[in-house]
Amino acid sequence: MNNFSTVLVAIDFSDSSDNAFQMALSLAKKFSAQLLILHVINEPVDLRGFYVPHISFARLEEEIEEGAQKMMESFCRKNVVGFENFEHLIVSGLPYEQIISQAEEKSADLIVLGTHGRTGLDHVLFGSTAEKVVRKSKVPVLTVRLEGE
Ligand code: AMP
Repeated sequence: MNNFSTVLVAIDFSDSSDNAFQMALSLAKKFSAQLLILHVINEPVDLRGFYVPHISFARLEEEIEEGAQKMMESFCRKNVVGFENFEHLIVSGLPYEQIISQAEEKSADLIVLGTHGRTGLDHVLFGSTAEKVVRKSKVPVLTVRLEGE
């Protein structure tokens, strides 16, 4: 069996990703791996400079980043229990692209995702982020289904 030294878990603060996070934390503990907790701010490209003046958009982006940072810190306080070897990371962009590129950049050995996220498309096998990551990532991917999905 491979020895994982860096596990990246992508979270969107949904029940499904909370569940995937628990699996990633267990794996990181078991393999004494570093846990990278990634959240991607899904960038609303269409808003930029087109609908609102640039200055408002810059302020909005700052507020979004501050909000995401607070959510991440509170998530880690609540969920990363009994484990110190972790880092959290917030980036902006397309979730599937960022998940793949951050995993490559940080030399992760494994990506952990929920099968579904906040989009709530529970009739499909995979959500669109999960599907694209599974199809395009060179880094192995573990998808975790929440019971009842
Ligand atoms: P989806 O494919 O969007 O239904 O989401 C499937 C899984 O991908 C979620 O359970 C998360 O693990 C991950 N994910 C989705 N969106 C994001 C995001 N913005 N940032 C980080 N992870 C995400």
